[in-house]
Amino acid sequence: MESSQRPVYLDCHATTPVDPQVMAAMLPYFTEMFGNPASVSHQYGWEADAAIQQARASLAAAINATPEEIIFTSGATEANNLVVKGVAEAYVSRGKHIITVETEHNAVLDPCRYLRSLGFDITFLPVQPDGLIDLFDLENALRPDTILVSVMTANNEIGVIQPIAEIGALCHHRGILFHTDAAQAIGKVPLDVAAMHIDLMSLTAHKIYGPKGIGALYVRRRNPRVQLAPQLHGGGHEKGMRSGTLYTPQIVGLAAAVELAIAEMPTETARLTQMRDRLWQALSELGGVHLNGHPTQRLCGNLNLSLEGVDGQALLIALQSVMAVSSGSACTSSKAAPSHVLKALGRSHELAYASIRFGIGRFNTDADIDLAIAHVTQTVQALRQSASLLA
Ligand SMILES: *Cc1c(COP(=O)(O)O)cnc(C)c1O
Repeated sequence: MESSQRPVYLDCHATTPVDPQVMAAMLPYFTEMFGNPASVSHQYGWEADAAIQQARASLAAAINATPEEIIFTSGATEANNLVVKGVAEAYVSRGKHIITVETEHNAVLDPCRYLRSLGFDITFLPVQPDGLIDLFDLENALRPDTILVSVMTANNEIGVIQPIAEIGALCHHRGILFHTDAAQAIGKVPLDVAAMHIDLMSLTAHKIYGPKGIGALYVRRRNPRVQLAPQLHGGGHEKGMRSGTLYTPQIVGLAAAVELAIAEMPTETARLTQMRDRLWQALSELGGVHLNGHPTQRLCGNLNLSLEGVDGQALLIALQSVMAVSSGSACTSSKAAPSHVLKALGRSHELAYASIRFGIGRFNTDADIDLAIAHVTQTVQALRQSASLLA
């Protein structure tokens, strides 16, 4: 089969390629302007520091924050760890209760489980069959000793977008810190930390055509001023919250990626929604196809389906020479266990296994969707036919 051609990439929730415009912005900072931004005594340091300041201001403006509220990290995993452990450590005298959601990324769930092993009390809120949390469940779970609520903005598997502004308002009303993992949301949905009452927000570059290994954490400094116990000690960089020499090219790339995604958001949202809906329309004609997650409260490039009578693993293997898609999330799909997100929706074991996730992005074309429709349709029909022959 088409051996000279690489498979069509439709896995944009796992990662994305670096946009050439982002790459161009980063390049001078590897070789020419390579200085340490902490070097205050010469031009090399000043140049790097100026680039960092500009990136920090740009990122802050993108979420309606101030530059001092941006802490650079190695990505969303580190930002989430810093929030969960850093808040727990800083606020332990106030309480030991944390609320999160069953469908969160493991970079939130695992630090929470770790804290539970240290004696913290963690509530893992369930979700409704459409993947949205019930705000009454959240309200009922809030306690006087609750120190943190962590709910992701957009889910990496099913694309579901939670009612962040309402959750933020609930938390602020009670004086409880609110964190959101916005790794999948930045550049795809409008984010405003003031209007949405967000105290802490995790970001990453590589889901929006920026480089891997760089992210940021928004940490509110006024009303309230959030305290965080650092998890990396060292030179006291980033207001002491995250030590380590700032990675200038990656930081420039993060800011460039966010700027570009926000500039293109209106047109890209329309284009990706149209492609995603066409794919869904065509594949639903197979029959026995279930959409995972809310039909409209979801990321525009996301389609997550469960297919009756199909082995998910066999489907991916049959498709992999033609297209790159995934089942479950990239980080957990090496495990044989079905996705914790699909199970939280109440999907049966069979349907959770028989799932496929499409992540459509900036460099996909209508031709890619045509190819996906043709190959998935053909493959599902063949797999169902052979299963019925065996039965
Ligand atoms: C990708 C992702 C992460 C992890 O981000 P890294 O920058 O790769 O560490 C965390 N949360 C969500 C929702 C993600 O999609």
